Amino acid sequence: MDLYEYQGKELFRRFGIPVSEGRLATTPEEARAAAEELDAPVVVKAQVLTGGRGKAGGVKLAATPEEAEARAQDILGLDINGHVVRKLWIERASDIAKEYYLSVTFDRGEKKSLFMLTTQGGVDIEQVAEESPDALARLHVDPLEGYQPWQARRLIYAVGIDDLSEQKQVLAIVGKLYRAFVECDAMLCEINPLIVTPDGEVRALDSKFTVDDNALYRHADVAEMRDVAAADPLEAFAREKGVTYVKLDGDVGILGNGAGLSMSTVDVVAHVGGRPANFCDLGGGGDAEGVVDALEVITRDEAVRSIFFNIFGGITRCDVVARGILQALERLDMSGYPIVVRLDGTNADEGREILAHAGRPNIYPEATMLDGARRAVELAQAA
Ligand code: GDP
Ligand code: MN
Repeated sequence: MDLYEYQGKELFRRFGIPVSEGRLATTPEEARAAAEELDAPVVVKAQVLTGGRGKAGGVKLAATPEEAEARAQDILGLDINGHVVRKLWIERASDIAKEYYLSVTFDRGEKKSLFMLTTQGGVDIEQVAEESPDALARLHVDPLEGYQPWQARRLIYAVGIDDLSEQKQVLAIVGKLYRAFVECDAMLCEINPLIVTPDGEVRALDSKFTVDDNALYRHADVAEMRDVAAADPLEAFAREKGVTYVKLDGDVGILGNGAGLSMSTVDVVAHVGGRPANFCDLGGGGDAEGVVDALEVITRDEAVRSIFFNIFGGITRCDVVARGILQALERLDMSGYPIVVRLDGTNADEGREILAHAGRPNIYPEATMLDGARRAVELAQAA
C-alpha cells in the first residue's frame, strides 16, 4: 500500500525525522486558511499516489494566503499521470541550499535491505543511477545484524558530505529511516529531496512510503490511512471480499487457482485472440465460499461476456473444485454467462464427470488450457 506524501511525513515525524509543518486541505478556502495558520509563504502540494508532481505542475510556492488559495484552485482537479488531485498538502515553505536523496528499500536478489544516498537529489533517481552511477552510494543492511551507525557513516563519506553538522544530522536520519522501514513493515521509504537549508538544517521535503499489504494486519493505524475513495470501486469490492483481483479491459472473466496459473491464463486468452477482463486468483482453496466471492467480483464488471475457470489440481482436488463451482451456482444466478471449466491434475476426470452430469447447460468442461481459452473466447464473442 502506497501512502500519500502527507501520510508518509506523519510517519517520518513519529520516528523523529524532521519534516516541515503542514495542513491538509481539500478546497481553495481551506488552503487559504492553512496558509494563514502556517504564516505564509507556503508550498501547495498535490497529494496523489504518483511521482513527478513538481514537473506536472502539482507543487507550487505561494507567498501569501491569497496566492495559496489561487494555487490550490489551479491544482485541485488537475490530472497527474492519470491521478486526479482531490487533496492538497499545504506546507510551510523551506529555503533550499542543497537537495539530497535518501532511500531504503528491498534488494530481493541480495535478500537484504538496501540504502541509497546521493547528493544529487531532487531529480529522478533513475536518471542519477544512469548518468552518474558513481554519485549514488549503495549499502546493504543484513537483517540479522541489523543497522549499525557505521553504515550511515560509510554512505555519508561515499557521497562526500563533509560538513560536520550535516554529517551528524544525516547520520541520525538514516538510523531513523531504517527504524521506520522495519517497524512499519515498509517496502520503500524514500526522501527526495532531503534538503539542507541555508542555515544548515537537514529536513525531509518529500516522502514516498510503501507498506507491505501483508503486514497491514499488525499496523491498524497505517491500514486506516488507505484512501478508499481513490481506489477503483471494483478492486475495492474485491479487497473487501478478500479476493485477489486486478481489472483488465476485455470481456473474458478469468479465475485460476494460484497467481502463476492465473497470469498464464491471461496470456493464453490473449494468445488465442481474446481479451481478458481481469486477473483473479482463487488461491489454494476451491470451496464454494471462495468461488462465490470471486464470481461476485468478476460479474460486477459489466464488460464480462464469458467466464473461464482454469484449475490445476495439486493439493486442491479437481472434484472438490467442481463441487465448489456447482454449490456456488446454487447460490448465485449465473445463467446469463457461459462458463468454461478446465480441470487438470488430481482427480480431473472425476471433476469433469461431476460437471458433465450436473445438468447445467452453461457449463463447458475442457481438458486443456488452450482448448479452454479458445472456447471461452468463442463464447464471449458469440454472447
Ligand atoms: P515530486 O515532484 O512529486 O517529487 O514532489 P516534491 O515534493 O519532491 O517537490 C518537487 C520539487 O519542488 C522539489 O524537488 C523542490 O525543488 C520543490 N519544492 C518542494 N517544496 C519546496 C519548498 O518548501 N521550498 C522550495 N523552495 N521548493 C520546494
Ligand atoms: Mn520528490
